[in-house]
Amino acid sequence: MRLPFALIDVLDKVADGAGINKREASYLLGFDEHSIEASLIRAVANDVSRERFGNCGVVQGQIGVEIMPCPANCGFCVFGAKYKMFEPYVMPEEEILEKALAFSETGRLSSLFIMTMHQFGFDRLVKTIEMLRHHILPEIEIVVNIGDFDRKQGEELKAVGVNGAYHVLRLREGIDTNLDPEKRVKTLGVIKDVGLDLHYCCEPLGPEHSNEEIVEQMFRGIEYECAEHAAMKRVWVEQLPLARFGQITELRLAQVVAVVTLASVNNPALKHIAVHEPNKIGLTSGANTVYAESGSNPRDCDAETETCRGRTVDDCVEMLFDSGFSSLLYGNGCVGSLTHEVCQHLQI
Ligand code: SF4
Repeated sequence: MRLPFALIDVLDKVADGAGINKREASYLLGFDEHSIEASLIRAVANDVSRERFGNCGVVQGQIGVEIMPCPANCGFCVFGAKYKMFEPYVMPEEEILEKALAFSETGRLSSLFIMTMHQFGFDRLVKTIEMLRHHILPEIEIVVNIGDFDRKQGEELKAVGVNGAYHVLRLREGIDTNLDPEKRVKTLGVIKDVGLDLHYCCEPLGPEHSNEEIVEQMFRGIEYECAEHAAMKRVWVEQLPLARFGQITELRLAQVVAVVTLASVNNPALKHIAVHEPNKIGLTSGANTVYAESGSNPRDCDAETETCRGRTVDDCVEMLFDSGFSSLLYGNGCVGSLTHEVCQHLQI
């Protein structure tokens, strides 16, 4: 068996502690997902990531707290106003708290994400964060996954205890969405300027995206020194316009996770790498982080994802154990062993 010299050169460079550039990232994405070259790229990324993060897994949780007909009409999201798939719904505070406690009382959650629609009630969000900060462990980070916001709002979010924001200039933003790419980028700057952790992601990946498009979108997160990078595939939903392109496999998603991992060697701010939705191929290709989900979910035709696509914290812990992680970032901020006994306890 002969491997291409160019591939060996790139992987040797990574083994020596250097990151890859855009041209090299595009080259690595160009191998067929079933090829031995792609398997080798995933194996090297797995090694680089486990070394970097001390073989420690991370579980995060997201609560989708509302459903509204969203004017952004993203061609991959079930909440687009055009698609009329749901009745509007605002989750009462008591239910948000109940869900947050269900996540945090496992003792295994590192961050709690609160997700709204693109347009959201800022004052209501602030009130929700204040309420959550009174009830959940201070070590659990709160991350907002919301629409665009300005500097004043970013400062206010930080002041009430928000630690980070999930924000992305999506693949084909402004083409497959009604959103203004410039505003999305501006919010990335706001997040950095006010000192919130930026949670970025290469998403929503579909078979129609070229390697060059993927690389450009992926490197933006690295250029902004995101605290978390990730990759997420678009989920096929029959009623949505982008369903015509189909869906990529978890194996291809894992290849993108691997390239994110190798490209992120040059990002000193990176704390972890996630794969959405949670799966073991991604967790053995560079990702060390997965999400539990409850409430609304843009990839789910059920208004309560907990009973459909959403994974529980226990599912995520078990998946990390099965993927060979030997420790876990616990909800109290400590790192503890992730053993067979921990997983057995989950099943009792
Ligand atoms: S992904 Fe977000 S911005 Fe796009 S339609 Fe769904 S809720 Fe709106």
